[in-house]
Amino acid sequence: MMRKGIKVRLDPTPRQERLLASNAGAARYVFNLGLMHIKSQLNGNTSCDGQGKADWSMPALRRWWNAWKQELAPWWRENSKEAYTSGLQSLSDAFSNYFASRDGERKGERMGWPKWRSKHKTTPKFTYTTGSFGVADPHGLKLPRIGRVHCMENVEQLTGGIQPSHMTISKHGGHWYASLCVEVPDPQPPTTLEGHVGVDIGVKRIATLSDGTTVENPHTLKTSMRRQRRTQRKLNRRRKGSKRYLKAKKELQRVEGHVANQRRDRMDKLTTMLATTYADISIEDLSVKGMTKRPKAKPDPNNPDKYLPNGRKAKAGLNREILDVGFGMFRRMLEYKCALSGARLHIVDRWYPSSKTCSNCGTVKAKLSLKERVYRCDHCGLVIDRDLNAASNIDVAGSAPRDVKRAWRAHKTKESWLTPETLAASGEGNANQAAVPADCLRLGADAGNGVLSTRTN
Ligand SMILES: [Zn+2]
Repeated sequence: MMRKGIKVRLDPTPRQERLLASNAGAARYVFNLGLMHIKSQLNGNTSCDGQGKADWSMPALRRWWNAWKQELAPWWRENSKEAYTSGLQSLSDAFSNYFASRDGERKGERMGWPKWRSKHKTTPKFTYTTGSFGVADPHGLKLPRIGRVHCMENVEQLTGGIQPSHMTISKHGGHWYASLCVEVPDPQPPTTLEGHVGVDIGVKRIATLSDGTTVENPHTLKTSMRRQRRTQRKLNRRRKGSKRYLKAKKELQRVEGHVANQRRDRMDKLTTMLATTYADISIEDLSVKGMTKRPKAKPDPNNPDKYLPNGRKAKAGLNREILDVGFGMFRRMLEYKCALSGARLHIVDRWYPSSKTCSNCGTVKAKLSLKERVYRCDHCGLVIDRDLNAASNIDVAGSAPRDVKRAWRAHKTKESWLTPETLAASGEGNANQAAVPADCLRLGADAGNGVLSTRTN
């Protein structure tokens, strides 16, 4: 069995919209209340449970809430009890994540101390996990204490008639959505996949495939992005917190939601096409975080209090665009779609110079400015579109044997360098590869015509 997420836009009546907002507000309220409670426990103020021990486990929070809800929130009956449960659950998760991260038991980015949830800045949401929620009819969802809410899509068809195990209601871009989690049988991968492809993701052009296919940004996206910038300027001119400000903010959220939807749609179509067409897909491991980090300040050696230009302004513009394209989204989509279709996804090391390498002779250029849209090789005279060159290199690097990839990484970290001896030791060595000069790294498994090797000097 496999879990599948389905998201549909809701079409609530004004009354239902008020109830949705109320439930989401209840989840937020109880989160903040619980945070205050845990804080006072940790500070040694034992007035809340009388024992002076901080316990952020779900049973403890639930016990505390049931004992105090009448006093702290006499209006609690107005909302579904699931709203309070989801608020407490996310608080409990926030604390476990914080402590696990602090103690090094949690991978990934460091989690901070749980923050207050602001009414204007937090995404309104709550989750149903128990009770009689689910698909009511083809275009309707049943929400306890709210009733049947109409959906914009045929939700029965999307879920295949399977009742969801949980359902999260959230609001973004000015609209309410329901995310349903359903358990579906494992898909049968189709056997029609064949061939391999390398994909280069870009800013101006959304993607270039190694077979020469290009995927452009939709024109409508440019139009709505212009509208987004205009609305942002409008918001900036208004006094913060005023009625006119809030009105402009709402408008901006709506426009931003539209832009995000357009982008996701294009990415969805591209990743579906890739995952259902090719057997082997190679992409670059692009670290969005690394690319968006603010450049370090560069002190002026002659003037101790002054700083030299460090390209921060230029980077800020480019980074914004890079983020906009949504590399992270692309990779996540491709990962799960490949798992569904049975295609193999290869991630090429992020230090591999895909743009600087000649896809014909393997020479690596020392410098390649972003302005150069056409790659010209000084060694073999190849003239090729920059992105197409990169895509071809990614394709070759992605389909290279594992040991060669590892050797490449090892070289990059300056631990060792690939020689015919290390190749032989890794089991990849044969007469052909031993003949490659030591300053060349062979990418790709086929014959020694030198086309697939990368010169690294
Ligand atoms: Zn060349």
